[in-house]
Amino acid sequence: MAQALTVIVVRAMTRESLTTCVVVLLLTLAPPSGAGEEKRRTSFTDADLESYASRRQKEARPAPEPSPPSEPMSPAPRPVAAPEVFQPPHVVLDDLLGTLLPADKQRAESIGDGILNFYGGSLQGPIHIATRNFMDEAAFRTLVQQVYGSPVNVIGFYYTSEDEIVVGPSSERFKTLVHEMNHFLVEKIVPNPPTWLNEGLSEFFEEASLDPEGLKIRLPAWRQRSLQRWKNGGQQPNLSGILQMTPQDVLAHGEVGSYLLRALAWSIVDFLTSTESGRALFQKYLTELNARRTGSDPYTAMVMAYSGSIRQFEAEWLKHVDRRLGGT
Ligand SMILES: [Zn+2]
Repeated sequence: MAQALTVIVVRAMTRESLTTCVVVLLLTLAPPSGAGEEKRRTSFTDADLESYASRRQKEARPAPEPSPPSEPMSPAPRPVAAPEVFQPPHVVLDDLLGTLLPADKQRAESIGDGILNFYGGSLQGPIHIATRNFMDEAAFRTLVQQVYGSPVNVIGFYYTSEDEIVVGPSSERFKTLVHEMNHFLVEKIVPNPPTWLNEGLSEFFEEASLDPEGLKIRLPAWRQRSLQRWKNGGQQPNLSGILQMTPQDVLAHGEVGSYLLRALAWSIVDFLTSTESGRALFQKYLTELNARRTGSDPYTAMVMAYSGSIRQFEAEWLKHVDRRLGGT
């Protein structure tokens, strides 16, 4: 069981139809700018900085030999500070089993780059993600049993203690790859992220496809049906309960409950990413979580990030839910 706690799950084996695309959002992903990066770097944690420092050390190229002066009597050249080079972050999937199709690998990495761009520049350079993409069901189930201590019904997971993502041979393999890749990236941007945020973002980005203008995010109908049932059933859990959900909650609520919790988490992410002010709040929330160096108090972090009352936030979100249920 202790091993199971090291795993961020997660997607259930089955789900309702994913075929209906109701609304398509386009996330315009601005290219990184120098000023933006300066601002974003204020959200680095010490762990990020250490990690970044060690990565830079490994990637550093040796400095070239200084050129001899052309004339013996020439004055010594004044030292010139080297310009700081910003390496845009980009995802590299390290295919440990050699089973990823080249086209899928490339597409997933490009979506990963778009996701990184959305989060802002707290990471730089190549982000290597060790990936085990199982083609064999029995071998995948053996690993699930070993990691969770029981044959839980998952089709992929982010194996945090190994820092790698694991994808099983389901019909949703590619979505699962993107879903777990996002878990990996979120963990690097907000260590120990709140479950609602982590799961909601992965649910959100697993629907991403590439577009010349950015990432296109589909809004599948099953999530809206879950939200409708939630509304009809008295809206439980409420916002406070959603923000404080745990990975165990997602697993413990069974298939139906898991759908609902993931749909609710997805809906809050959908709300935050649908407007300029929502995206600003999202960034403030990340900063707040990092400033507290914990994901253990996601509700208070939202209170701190949101300038109005949390009830006002809930009311605005519910209006957004109604708009989505109305097909807009
Ligand atoms: Zn997940």
